Amino acid sequence: MEEKGRIGIPRALMFYRYFPLWKVFFEELGWRVIVSDGVGKRGNLIYFEDSCLPMKLLVTHAMHLKGKVDYLFVPRLVSLHRHYIMCPKFRGAPDIVRLATDGTIPILDETIDLRTREYSMLRSFVKMSSRLGANHPEGKRAFQMAEQLFLNFQKGWEERINQLPLNQIYQMDIPVSAQEKKSHLKVAFIGHPYNLFDTDVNKDLLSFAKSLGMRIITPEGLSEKEIRAQVSDLSKEIYWSSGREIVGSLFHFLSGGVDGAVFLTSFKCGIDALLQEFIKRRLKIRGGASVPFLILTLDEHSGREGLMTRLEAFKDVMEERKRNVKTQSSNE
Ligand code: SF4
Repeated sequence: MEEKGRIGIPRALMFYRYFPLWKVFFEELGWRVIVSDGVGKRGNLIYFEDSCLPMKLLVTHAMHLKGKVDYLFVPRLVSLHRHYIMCPKFRGAPDIVRLATDGTIPILDETIDLRTREYSMLRSFVKMSSRLGANHPEGKRAFQMAEQLFLNFQKGWEERINQLPLNQIYQMDIPVSAQEKKSHLKVAFIGHPYNLFDTDVNKDLLSFAKSLGMRIITPEGLSEKEIRAQVSDLSKEIYWSSGREIVGSLFHFLSGGVDGAVFLTSFKCGIDALLQEFIKRRLKIRGGASVPFLILTLDEHSGREGLMTRLEAFKDVMEERKRNVKTQSSNE
């Protein structure tokens, strides 16, 4: 198929969950997808007041694509759940990028709000395809194709993050085997997908965790039913879908099956600040966590060394607990 042009996708925010779906959709319509590079060692982050690091990274990545693409894809993500909403900053994301790029690049900013039929994922993507010159059947077909490939991609997620270097986990053409590599510690890493998988945010902490012999488990593999089971008895409902997923998955993992849990939070994220308080209170009521639990707060000033030291100390705590549990059960 003849290439129709270039769509730029900033490597930020929900890129870290939906990139495979977005890429296949645009490619099926005949567009080339260009992803911004990581900020990496250049470290030239674009600052604007009172923002969390993930939002600064969105703007920085969008600016890297300026002049290289025909459109930027920055959807207005209002809700990615049938009942719960995204952090309000996601609604404004396309406007922030438009302002930062001085309106020089057309932005594909279709609203996605899964609480309403009008803005369902399929409808929103079909609408967007018509902006790119496709008719309704072409748009629908491209979306269905992308959705199918995305579902298959998700099935191999845990193996991908444990077998591949972090900078390759979204390369769909790299296969992974179903064989589980032996690791002596199983550790749940919880947080917004961009905190977990953006190496500019977390200083490639997951690669370091793997080098320490940890097998990484993330919320991606959990079903809505498993999340609901952990949050349905809360005295106050959590309305943010990501917050609800974080709390639900954390308590799911704390109830067994892992040797420890790490919560990666963003400094200047109001939602994470509230969640931390909420989690601490809930743990207090329950008499503490059943496995070691660590909270790491990330911002642009976080040093890799400091994070690594804390993770190494956490590994010692998990190993000691494992030894104690083993001794106890052999004495019984
Ligand atoms: S949830 Fe927090 S980290 Fe994510 S965009 Fe909103 S404020 Fe930023």
